Order: sequence, then structure tokens, then C-alpha cells
Amino acid sequence: LEALGRKQIAGKILLFNNRFDQRMAAQGLGGEAYEQAVVFRSRGAIDASYFGAVAVLVRSVGGGGYRLPHTGITAYDPAIPKIPAGAVTAEDADLIAGLAARGKVQARLVLTPQSLPETTSYNVVADLKGTEHPEQVVIVSGHLDSWDLGTGALDDAAGVAMAMAAVELVRRLDLRPRRTIRVVAWMGEECGSPGAWAYAKQHEGELAHHVAAIESDLGAGHPVGFKAKIKDKAMAWLSPVSAILDAQGAGGIRPVDGTEADLTPLAYAGVPAFGLWQDSRTYFNFHHTAADTIDKIVPAELAENAAAMVVMAYALANATEPLLR
Ligand SMILES: [Zn+2]
Repeated sequence: LEALGRKQIAGKILLFNNRFDQRMAAQGLGGEAYEQAVVFRSRGAIDASYFGAVAVLVRSVGGGGYRLPHTGITAYDPAIPKIPAGAVTAEDADLIAGLAARGKVQARLVLTPQSLPETTSYNVVADLKGTEHPEQVVIVSGHLDSWDLGTGALDDAAGVAMAMAAVELVRRLDLRPRRTIRVVAWMGEECGSPGAWAYAKQHEGELAHHVAAIESDLGAGHPVGFKAKIKDKAMAWLSPVSAILDAQGAGGIRPVDGTEADLTPLAYAGVPAFGLWQDSRTYFNFHHTAADTIDKIVPAELAENAAAMVVMAYALANATEPLLR
């Protein structure tokens, strides 16, 4: 924007036509591809307004195809005038760019979304109590809310289903974990994780006893392992767990600076955090669109994810030596 300058931008509708890196997603880094593309949607309206734009359009953040717009959170800065912002499909972004290359393009925006007043909502929490250390907790989780365009089957009913299935598997196998395994369905991930922040505040005094937290929030594709925000020395402890997960192709443990959004408040407090790491080649084609529906979920792959989650959770809940801190 600095290169374009205020003179070029002021009074105009700005189109951010940044392509989602589909190749990066195919290489197993779908979340990272998303992160580098999503800044245009999350911050674009602030920065464009700063340079005098009257509105922004953002190329949908995702793999494209099917001419679907992808929604998602858009930030504003109270110090900078709030301008309208809308997502356009990948196909329409290309169309606008093509027309703009030939000459002046005019657009009239009709944007209907509105922010309703805040209301009270809840995380849903359930414990399978530990036999020896019920006060020590391993969280398995997904988030309960979703964007309204689709049904949120992939983002993130799948994660909630995995967490519920993980505990159900422990029960069905009649295993007795030494520590508590806690299922959490977080509320409000899509609007900044207020549920997760409220949990961290409410359980502030108990976070030292949170052995680890696991969330799945990258769809329901075949799991290849876990993204882990843990201490370096903890990697060695995880290698036998990884060896078990290898049997289903889910043995990868990739150190990351941050995992899933809902785990951020816990990670800040020093709780080791794990995000399920799925094959996300197609996830961002459907993410935050009207096509996020249950037909996109392959039941066998959902089951693989539940299996990966329960192996990790049970290992953490039952290990004789703690652990990762
Ligand atoms: Zn999500």
C-alpha cells in the first residue's frame, strides 16, 4: 500500500487479490498457507482505510474453485475510519483484476451482514476423572461455534466429535487413565476465542495442573501427526507415542510457535499444546463457506483422527513421569 501511495488509493474500492498457496497446502502446510493469506482479510480494511480507500474486496482465503466466497473475522481499529469489507470468490477476483487491467472498473457493494449485540454463551465441558490424580488434566477439544454460511461440519464439529470419541474409546476399552481427560467444546473460536479466554481465567489457579491441551481445528482429513507447542526436551519423551501413531501414518510431531487458536490462552500460561495435524489439501476449499457440510467428512478419516487424539491423550493422562513442562 505504501508503494501505491495514498494518491492511487484514496476514494477507491481496493481489491486484495492474493492467491492462497495451494502447493504449500499440498505439502502438508495448509494452516501456514492460510495464515499467510488471511492477513488481507483480517487487516485489509484497516490498512486500506488508513490510505483513504472507501471499501475493500478480498480474494477469498482458500483453495478456490466452485466460485464460493469464504467468510471470516475482519478486524477494525477504532482510531481509523471503519470501511466496508467483503470477500469475493477466487474466480471473481480474477475477473475484476482482468477487467481492471483493461481500464476503469466500477462496483456497487451491497453488504448485508450486521453485528448483533453480545449475548451469553457457554463452553461445554465433561470430565473422565483420573484414578490417581483427578486434579491433573489433559484436555481434548474442538470448537462448538462455526460461521453461518455452512453448517461447520469440518470447522469444527469434527474436532468436537473427535474429542467426544476419544473419551468414549477410553471407556469402551475399559481403560482407567491416572489423570483426568477433559472434553472441552470451546465457544466462540470464530470471533476471537472468548470461551477459551474465559476458561483460562476461570481455571487460572489450576493451570499448573493442566498436563497438556489438545485441539483439532484443521478439518477431518487423514491425520499425519501433531503440531506441538512444547519444550524441546519434551520431544524425546514423545517418541514412543509417535512410534505408536506411526502405525496409522500419524506419527509426525512438528514443533510450532502456536497451535490452535483456542489453545493460545493455555499455551500463554505454559500448558503444553497440541493441534491435530491433518492432510489439509482440500480443507481450505470448503473452510468458512456454504460448502462446509457433513458430506465433506470421510467417516474413516474422522475415526483415524479420533484414534490419534486418544493415543496422545491417553499417553499424557497415564504416563508415570510428567512430562512435558
Ligand atoms: Zn475452526
